[in-house]
Amino acid sequence: MEIKDLYLQNSLTKQKEKFTPINEGYIGMYVCGPTVYSDVHLGNVRTFTSFDIMYRCLLYLGYKVRYVRNITDVGHLLDGGEDRISKGARLEKLEPMEVVQKYTNGFHKIMDIFHTKKPSIEPRATQHILEQIEMVQQILDNGYAYIKDGSVYFDTLKFNEEKKVYGNLSGRIIEDLLTETRDNLKKQDQKRHPSDFAIWMKADPDHLMKWNSPWGEGFPGWHLECSVMSTKYLGETFDIHGGGNDLKFPHHENEIAQNIGSCGCQPSNYWLHTNMLLMNGKKMSKSDGNTISPDELFTGDSPHVSKGYSPMAVKFFMLQSHYSSTLDLTDDALLASEKGYKRLMESLKTLGQLNHKSVGNSLDLEVNEALDEFMNHMCDDFNTPRAIASLFEVVTKINSFNEGHLDLAQISDETFARLKKEYPEFIDDVLGLKDENIGGGNSEALDGVMELVLDLRQEARANKDWGTADKIRDGLSKSKIVVKDVKDGTNWTFS
Ligand code: AMP
Ligand code: ZN
Repeated sequence: MEIKDLYLQNSLTKQKEKFTPINEGYIGMYVCGPTVYSDVHLGNVRTFTSFDIMYRCLLYLGYKVRYVRNITDVGHLLDGGEDRISKGARLEKLEPMEVVQKYTNGFHKIMDIFHTKKPSIEPRATQHILEQIEMVQQILDNGYAYIKDGSVYFDTLKFNEEKKVYGNLSGRIIEDLLTETRDNLKKQDQKRHPSDFAIWMKADPDHLMKWNSPWGEGFPGWHLECSVMSTKYLGETFDIHGGGNDLKFPHHENEIAQNIGSCGCQPSNYWLHTNMLLMNGKKMSKSDGNTISPDELFTGDSPHVSKGYSPMAVKFFMLQSHYSSTLDLTDDALLASEKGYKRLMESLKTLGQLNHKSVGNSLDLEVNEALDEFMNHMCDDFNTPRAIASLFEVVTKINSFNEGHLDLAQISDETFARLKKEYPEFIDDVLGLKDENIGGGNSEALDGVMELVLDLRQEARANKDWGTADKIRDGLSKSKIVVKDVKDGTNWTFS
């Protein structure tokens, strides 16, 4: 089967490019995962949901995808040099690995609630210390790093003089960087140039997480884990690397330097960066306290929202902007998204209830075009807002067929079958939106029960047993189910 063309905005070349995988039909994708020292906030969720949609879309297009998303459990330092995980352990009086497990579990739970797929591999930095030591050694052997008092630093100046690529991804200029310090190390004076960064750090005696190495007891620099784990699971050069755009510099820039410095190759052909979720116009961030947790949003227990919103309404809100645009979380936007999401779910039910008998095909073209448009937009750098707009074209058609404004008999069996198959697939398989309202997610069971109840109501009406017919309708209405009598029978929706 031929796979549809896909275009991606590549942060490395700053151009929208036609995607060509290294091995036809296969994709290796690496996404920087969370640092598990506290609960994820909604900004993190936006980034991981965006990459989930990309993963889903690539699978739907027919690619075999190996999706690697790591867990950062060592080396990501705070200002002042303390490891984030160690700080969590200190504050919560837990073992560092207890902190890691606790917040990894929490992260997984949130990702499930948002109906995202699990990655193919979820490697942890602490499980790859040996490989990280090996990469440090390779970089040293190649002459792009130096040892100072038990720590190993990447020599950015020498690397850039020879390779001329440092700063390509982030657009930073090495001359400016030479006067800038940009890591959280205490011992800045050990570096030859301020722009150099530690790939292995000597541990103080009271440091919690440390390992033996050829340079003494220490721990790996944060950027190293992603260079090592992407190479290990996807090869020296793979297809797609992603992360939030706040990781472009220094994290991704240094990752590229480490890969080129060790094996001589650019790690990824396409770099994709998601933009930030804002609240009140400012980046949502743990360190600034400008966050809202998923739970606060679901329960409405936050001064930022007037009520609680369901996970799928929140996800729909996120999908209504392109992953590379900033997105401001506001109550009004969430209210509008909640309505849009419900309309989409109702249309699925209406589609399931349409009785089709073809007598012609004069409406085939417009139905097929509306369906084609969805994937065209998704293949244009995963343009979810446009793709959703084209789904609403389909919603309008479904409602018009249901209400008789468009003649359902004027679509062929083939087009009707395509509509019934692809429309729900676009919503669930590609966009990852599921119907939350239906009997704990068991929509088939509820459909069956409703068919039976509506049959009984029909029978009662046929027998002029108005008491029973009204009792059924009123009982359903108490469960927020509205019964509508339409041209070809009876439909129902949630009110
Ligand atoms: P961290 O756990 O801080 O390493 O972040 C995990 C991921 O969430 C990274 O890819 C970040 O770029 C991303 N991220 C952090 N804050 C936001 C935000 N406000 N909006 C979108 N993504 C974010
Ligand atoms: Zn990373």
